[in-house]
Amino acid sequence: MKPGSVIIIGAGVGGIVAGTHLARAGVDVTVLEKNSHAGGRCDRFSRDGHHFDAGPTLMVMPLLYEAEFAALGTSLREKLDLQRVDPTYHLVFDDGSRLALTSDMKSMQEQMEAFEQGSFRGLLRYMEEGHRHYHVGMEKLVNRDFRKASDFFALSNLPLAFQLKPFANHYRNLSAYFDDPRLKAAFTFQDVYMGLSPFEAPATFSLMPYSELAHGVWYPRGGMYSIVEALVELAQGAGVAFEFDASVERIDVNGSQARGVVLSDGRRLQAEAILANADLPYVYRDLLPEDGEAGRLSRKRFSCSVISFFWGVDKTYPQLPPHTLFLAEDYRDNFTSIIHDLGLPANPSLYVHAPARLDPSMAPEGQDTLIGIVPVGHMSENGEQDWAAIRDEARGHVFRRLRTIGITDLEEHIKFEVNYTPLSWKKRYNLMKGSTHGLCHNLTQLAYFRPRNRHSRYHNLYFVGASTHPGTGIPTAMVSGRLAAQRMLDEIM
Ligand SMILES: Cc1cc2nc3c(=O)[nH]c(=O)nc-3n(C[C@H](O)[C@H](O)[C@H](O)COP(=O)(O)OP(=O)(O)OC[C@H]3O[C@@H](n4cnc5c(N)ncnc54)[C@H](O)[C@@H]3O)c2cc1C
Repeated sequence: MKPGSVIIIGAGVGGIVAGTHLARAGVDVTVLEKNSHAGGRCDRFSRDGHHFDAGPTLMVMPLLYEAEFAALGTSLREKLDLQRVDPTYHLVFDDGSRLALTSDMKSMQEQMEAFEQGSFRGLLRYMEEGHRHYHVGMEKLVNRDFRKASDFFALSNLPLAFQLKPFANHYRNLSAYFDDPRLKAAFTFQDVYMGLSPFEAPATFSLMPYSELAHGVWYPRGGMYSIVEALVELAQGAGVAFEFDASVERIDVNGSQARGVVLSDGRRLQAEAILANADLPYVYRDLLPEDGEAGRLSRKRFSCSVISFFWGVDKTYPQLPPHTLFLAEDYRDNFTSIIHDLGLPANPSLYVHAPARLDPSMAPEGQDTLIGIVPVGHMSENGEQDWAAIRDEARGHVFRRLRTIGITDLEEHIKFEVNYTPLSWKKRYNLMKGSTHGLCHNLTQLAYFRPRNRHSRYHNLYFVGASTHPGTGIPTAMVSGRLAAQRMLDEIM
């Protein structure tokens, strides 16, 4: 074993970023990735000149990206060619009304007043609250580690209970700002990014719609995978070694130490410390000896999943904006079906992404690249869900919704389809229950209550990524990488 060496299991965003910080501090870092390339959930594939971002499609919370690229010794805007997406989303409601969310406040005023008189003043007050939640939340919860109970249960954190409204329900809290259910949906659907229903999410999450309007939603030329390419380049520049098609079968442990890993090809590799970027509940269940913790984790709440359709289309649909969201009238029932019944709602809200509107090179000339995403429940324990049938039903809903905005001939123009169901998410990235955002972000699974980034028994085994602190999302995975690397440097390297 090389002294000062670390093995990272998984080349997701968190693993790449943690590896870069460690290597910049002089640590010998090897990343083992089961797939043929880096990125994990932030994945990409191409077919016949159509380029698809298979996971994330929205670059949100740009201030976090800026800070994390700076922490890696570079500048976000030097590494990526960014454009602001404004309007961010085009929302389409069941009654045919539409709302384009934009930072142009005059346009927001005109649109919102047509929905409900006085609602624009409500939006301004809601933004004020979102501003507080964003800045206090980033400083006190996201950008810091909770290594011990006293880091969280400190007197100085008491004001957070009032400042961040953690005990108020996000959807209900909106009644203080407007009454129209379409507006309440427009400023809470972002909770799905956390795998949460707005009917149970803490009101703290107003920070998301606030940041989208105030800081913008962005798009890097070449698509979201350009972020991974930039991060891998930084990692390699710092000396991180990547090994692809290298699946870890188990972590070798002894007493209170992790000694190394055993790969599926039989090789054994040793290191002074291990950092697991593979999703945390999977690591406990599949890579470590059984000690009861895996069972406890699997009983925790998991985020929902999605069915994604990737279509190469032989004509363009210029009338389709980059990010269109169809929000269902039965908004509350949607979440009940997904989160409690683990199924597909009868009339699901769904999202369609047309990346070629932002970067024409994402599709061959005169053609289109389309992605339809339908949120669904995660896989159930009993495995009774018929994912092929659910997928076909979900596809029908995307076509039905597109017809309501005048796109009636899509089915005839699809050259090919690739689709991912929860089974695909599980198989490709080892995500337990096919849950796209890992452990859910409800109050009892956040901050100090989220699984810690160091194993309680094996003191040189650390965790990074969506199911540990701070949680899901690309910029948050970057924060997680920095925090985990810092902890390792403080404690053992
Ligand atoms: C459909 C979808 C849409 C999303 N949309 C957005 C969005 O718009 N904006 C946003 O910011 N975020 C979005 N996210 C969330 C974001 O993609 C993730 O939170 C983030 O990429 C997770 O990074 P991570 O560090 O947890 O690593 P992961 O992506 O989980 O990567 C872990 C890596 O470990 C590898 N691995 C697993 N097991 C092993 C093993 N045994 N041996 C070796 N390697 C292994 C996996 O193959 C994977 O590459 C989305 C996610 C999904 C799935």
